[in-house]
Amino acid sequence: MRKQDKSSWIKFTGLTKCNHCGNDVYMKKVACYDQIKHYDLFEIGSDISWQEGPVWRLLLCPACSDVTLYKYVLDDRFEPDAWTNQTLYPSKDGAIIGLPSEIDKEYRATTNLTTLNR
Ligand SMILES: [Zn+2]
Repeated sequence: MRKQDKSSWIKFTGLTKCNHCGNDVYMKKVACYDQIKHYDLFEIGSDISWQEGPVWRLLLCPACSDVTLYKYVLDDRFEPDAWTNQTLYPSKDGAIIGLPSEIDKEYRATTNLTTLNR
């Protein structure tokens, strides 16, 4: 856990919609993993430096006790509102993001996802 990142010390998220039960809840942060790297332009005489990289969070819904896997790409040159983020599990249509298309097709077929939201 990163000591300079105060937000990771907070054990709960702000109000977040649970894609399992649909409730707006304060999710418990059960795990956090990041690949944040430090960048700078010191070599070319600039004092500019920044941190950038993906962060994965595993969250637990207190209402239904199911987990949500959430990913965002931290870039401290921008406000958090501008960072890209997505819920990997469960996604809005129940699909698993990032599956190779062949496996995704099988997954959708066996779970009848093609009939949902299409
Ligand atoms: Zn829930």
